[in-house]
Amino acid sequence: MATLTLTDLVMTYDEPTTDAVRGVSVTVDHGELLVLLGPSGCGKTTVLRLIAGLEHPTSGDITIDGESVIRVAPEKRHAVLVAQQHALFPFRTVNENIAYGLRIRKLDRREQANRTAEALRLVQLDGYGDRYPNELSGGQQQRVALARALVVQPRILLLDEPLSSLDPELRGELQHVVSALQSEAGITTVMVTHDHDEAAAMADRIAVMSEGRLVSVEPNKRTTATAGIPQ
Ligand code: ADP
Repeated sequence: MATLTLTDLVMTYDEPTTDAVRGVSVTVDHGELLVLLGPSGCGKTTVLRLIAGLEHPTSGDITIDGESVIRVAPEKRHAVLVAQQHALFPFRTVNENIAYGLRIRKLDRREQANRTAEALRLVQLDGYGDRYPNELSGGQQQRVALARALVVQPRILLLDEPLSSLDPELRGELQHVVSALQSEAGITTVMVTHDHDEAAAMADRIAVMSEGRLVSVEPNKRTTATAGIPQ
């Protein structure tokens, strides 16, 4: 588990010049699920890409457990992004898709198999390891994408609208999986959505974003209520 802190994060894209992120500061605690909620174009994805190291900020700092990761390469940050379009390898089985990140890290075969089985269990897909992506539903494919991120044991999980392409039933199913994952694996997570209901169903705290800034960061009332804390 890890604590993530963003301090005065600013991102201005060059071409075309766009102030995508205009000074974002927030701390995400060990095991917390923070939802970034806001309309399309307000800078949510850019914040995730900055945390993952796929973009370099114009200014500001990102620390994980107190250490700046600004100069740390993406693959060494242990902050893994699950994008909206999950792009599984079509000609590899579920197991092979999930183990891919372990193979390129040259883990021994037994460790690969153990970790892959554990990741499949976490996303509730035990028994599906030998199937190919086209033999799975959209929700199941999205769960494989999640397992592929989890298998490398990231310190920070970054979810970019992971449920937006799914129909309502599959959405509910996957919301459940992500929530269960949160409570079981306790992984520090930042999830992006433009859907209020989704934020309310899943978040520990909701950070509302508008035009590159956080306009509020509040505990999610529903979570607080279920935790038994008086309103
Ligand atoms: P959101 O995820 O909230 O929809 P984004 O972070 O994707 O928002 O985009 C924020 C702003 O930055 C938008 O105005 C978008 O057009 C712009 N933007 C995103 N990526 C780039 C890029 N690579 N180059 C220039 N502008 C970009």
